[in-house]
Amino acid sequence: VGSGPAPPRLPGSLVRSGGFVGGRWVQAAAAFPVLDPASGAELGRVADCGVAEARAAVRAAWEAGPGWSAERSALLRKWYNLMMENKDDLAKIITAENGKPLKEAQGEILYSASFLEWFAEEARRIYGVIIPPSVKDRRLLVLKQPVGVAAVITPWNFPSAMITRKVGAALAAGCTVVVKPAEDTPLSALALGELANQAGIPAGVYNVVPCSQQQTPAVGEALCTDPLVAKISFTGSTATGKILLHHAAGTVKRVSMELGGHAPFIVFDSADVDRAVAGALASKYRNSGQTCVCTNRFLVQKRIHDAFVEKFARAIERELHVGNGFDEGTTQGPLINEKAVGKVERHISDAVSQGASIVTGGKRHSFGKNFFEPTLLSNVTTNMLCTQEETFGPLAPVIKFDTEAEAVAIANSANVGLAGYFYSQDPAQIWRVAEQLEVGIVGVNEGLVSSVECPFGGVKQSGLGREGSKYGIDEYLEIKYVCFGGL
Ligand code: NAD
Repeated sequence: VGSGPAPPRLPGSLVRSGGFVGGRWVQAAAAFPVLDPASGAELGRVADCGVAEARAAVRAAWEAGPGWSAERSALLRKWYNLMMENKDDLAKIITAENGKPLKEAQGEILYSASFLEWFAEEARRIYGVIIPPSVKDRRLLVLKQPVGVAAVITPWNFPSAMITRKVGAALAAGCTVVVKPAEDTPLSALALGELANQAGIPAGVYNVVPCSQQQTPAVGEALCTDPLVAKISFTGSTATGKILLHHAAGTVKRVSMELGGHAPFIVFDSADVDRAVAGALASKYRNSGQTCVCTNRFLVQKRIHDAFVEKFARAIERELHVGNGFDEGTTQGPLINEKAVGKVERHISDAVSQGASIVTGGKRHSFGKNFFEPTLLSNVTTNMLCTQEETFGPLAPVIKFDTEAEAVAIANSANVGLAGYFYSQDPAQIWRVAEQLEVGIVGVNEGLVSSVECPFGGVKQSGLGREGSKYGIDEYLEIKYVCFGGL
């Protein structure tokens, strides 16, 4: 267990231990512990909601649907204002339950709140269409209407933003929601419930059913098969996404899936090496490598390779500081749990056993059992585990390549495609590669690309649908064609 400070005191006014169903805080038959990933200490216990609570939440959402309409832009705006007024406390809750450095948690709260602000405005722009008729006595209209109750299942790596990115769009569209947060990070979801309540969002519009890992499969199945649920929106691993798709098929629900990535980061010979190193650092090590758009494999062209590896290693050693997320100066908090640490270790030992070299890092960090040294590997090849699946940790493997075609082929060999990055100063190459990469999001000479105004989502097995931007609300709207005849 870590040698860092005792578990942080949580801001009591926003910490809730019950589920939030139909506007009331509810207890369940049992409770499950929420742990501080930095120390292993228990932060508190939260109601372990089961199938009964999930069904009750769905019913509450369904009953709240018809009354949820006119005021929604103003109420989303109030919810946004309350998030901003409480931003420091909300960030502390994230750092406590997720471990990320407080600065990153504060950044997540601003990002998270921005979805409520954005969709408060989008709620006012759900325009229909009038279609010119080909028959004289007809008038043809397209209406957009909310799909109905949305079940929202979210991961632990962005405990707040992955909720508002979905819920902001859903509520703006006129849907009501049931949120099942990740078992590691339910407190942020419940704090949002407290603020939704204070904002005056009506009972049943935003419901939260936290549950333990043991209850999760049953609760997930209940949400994805309930006939009152019209839409499933999920962010998490591709493996879980496939289970949920399977459940949702029985009642042909609408689905949005934000799944795993395996982002390539290509550095071409023409790149500005210092910019590439800065982008690499940001895109690889944010949230200790635990974001779905984090670079998972570096592809570096032959001539620039040695300079890039050398400068990247020095930058890692100089700029990254492992420690408790609450400590000033920490850039690398703990991984979420020991299983995550085990995966990083497995990827490194597999690579080293096949000839990769450790340039820096390579082992668990002395700060505590969930901490890992930021690691850089060179001499990496495409048959190693770390270049075949998402590591989701602070490991940067570097593959050396010769030609552009070879790099694009390696990048596109993955069966997922969320984000991809490349550095080049050749405009023709920039257009070519941006168009050829099989991903939903491309960073050109840029390592941090997410923003509320831009569409977020992947291709291939990285998912279905887009979040944020002017497109995000469409995931929660049905198109209805109305034909007026006999006019
Ligand atoms: P995960 O799939 O294990 O868990 C995500 C959520 O699904 C959690 O709430 C979990 O409790 C729930 N869940 C797990 N099994 C379930 C089941 N059988 N039925 C219902 N719910 C179930 O993923 P994770 O480890 O928490 O998150 C990491 C993954 O998420 C990575 O693959 C990452 O790339 C991906 N991710 C994707 C995006 C994106 O926008 N594409 C964003 C963040 C994370």
